[in-house]
Amino acid sequence: MVPHTPAPCEPPPARRPKRYGRRRAVVLILVHLVIAIHIATWLLLGETLAPLELNEAMFTLELGIVTVGFIFMGLIVLSSLVFGRFFCSWGCHVLALQDLAAWLLEKVHIKPKPVRSRLLLLGPLAVMGAMFIWPQVERLAAGRPFPELFLSTDAEGFGSLITADFLRNLPGPGITILTFLVCGGLIVYLLGSRSFCRYVCPYGAVFSLADRLAPSRIRLDPGADCVSCGTCTAACSSDIRVHEEIKRFGAVVSPSCLKDLDCVSACPQGALHWGWARPSGWRSWSAASRHRRYDFTWGEELLALAVGVLGFFAFRSLYGQIPLLLAAALGILAGWATILIVHTLRRRDLRLKPFQLKRAGRIGPAGWVASVLAAAFLAFTLHSSVVRIHEQRGHHLWPHVEAGHAGSVEAGYQLMRELQWLHRWGIWTPPYVNDRMARTAILLNRPDQAVEPLERLSRQWPANARVKAALRDARAASGLQAG
Ligand code: SF4
Ligand code: SF4
Repeated sequence: MVPHTPAPCEPPPARRPKRYGRRRAVVLILVHLVIAIHIATWLLLGETLAPLELNEAMFTLELGIVTVGFIFMGLIVLSSLVFGRFFCSWGCHVLALQDLAAWLLEKVHIKPKPVRSRLLLLGPLAVMGAMFIWPQVERLAAGRPFPELFLSTDAEGFGSLITADFLRNLPGPGITILTFLVCGGLIVYLLGSRSFCRYVCPYGAVFSLADRLAPSRIRLDPGADCVSCGTCTAACSSDIRVHEEIKRFGAVVSPSCLKDLDCVSACPQGALHWGWARPSGWRSWSAASRHRRYDFTWGEELLALAVGVLGFFAFRSLYGQIPLLLAAALGILAGWATILIVHTLRRRDLRLKPFQLKRAGRIGPAGWVASVLAAAFLAFTLHSSVVRIHEQRGHHLWPHVEAGHAGSVEAGYQLMRELQWLHRWGIWTPPYVNDRMARTAILLNRPDQAVEPLERLSRQWPANARVKAALRDARAASGLQAG
């Protein structure tokens, strides 16, 4: 019998790729199931574990109130210091939405190609600074010590661990849906997959700092053969030049790596795995600076940054409604809309996803539609910034009027002018404006001027007994019949 000897050039057995994408989808579905159970517990029992919202870490850092959000954030940072920035892709519901949006877009043959900007990359750090660092700078400047940490209850005004006020930080349903649509959908379509993580998310900025110190990374297997085919780069939704980083460093050093393992699944050589490795430190800076091609010139970058910052301040707390992250996302979109108009004016040919906006110097129908939409959004941004100025003036005057300090009558008339401007020129009169208008009118002994805002307020807050009683009193004092 002739012994079998393998042919010298026999190809290696076909590698069965691991389906990490499916596993991650299952984990993210479970995360949403846990969120649903959490909400159901609150609805059934009337109280539950306080929300695991990372923004509640601000209450701990500024007021000393220990929150579940702070504990949760601390645990994620500690785990990121060891395992890297994995929470974003395996535990974050906003990333799940973004990946779902990208997946749906690809189903209709739209690849959410990332927009590459140098300065917009500073967005997450700037938002992180506004949320977590600036309040500490203000505290130090005022000479106040770091607050003592303590637990509190709902009865004391804020439930640290257990609360009945589960929705305490959430905006209304309309703004919540808008937040998800913008941060999880629109921004992906316009700026590319995971662009909310790349250009907005302040928590991602914190985790990416921890990631730089983590002794673990996506790395090349010892002895494995990387043929620089670039399949890993094509598979990466975080816009990382994986094959170049692997070639230069033997590991992915970008802190944008969310450890979703898509590159590990994709590599036809089976050459990649997650494992222990030297912390990346700041090596990604050299990688980024040598390999990037950006979509904007420096002038455009600076223009987008200026409009983005203006947009952020215009939208933040607009009408007392817009949360910080939505404001940051809208600010980034305002910067992008500006560049879209500049490119439409200056470039000879321009495409936006499947739409040809301009060809051979002629703006097509899609180009006009995109330009009008972008200009309308910028006009809305400008209008919002003026609204915010009047809102800020009103916020400044209100404590004086409410406290009845000396000069409060003069302040009351000024406040009425600001509030009436908001009612007249704003696109919406929020409840707080109606409430302050009515209270200020009564403080100024002008109950007739309190009737209209109270009527609006009673439509906005139909179950509020205080508003109903105040409206009755204001009508009676003005000699009007009860409606
Ligand atoms: S997919 Fe694998 S073989 Fe191809 S470049 Fe990436 S690591 Fe190298
Ligand atoms: S480098 Fe790999 S693990 Fe990291 S985000 Fe890109 S595909 Fe995912």
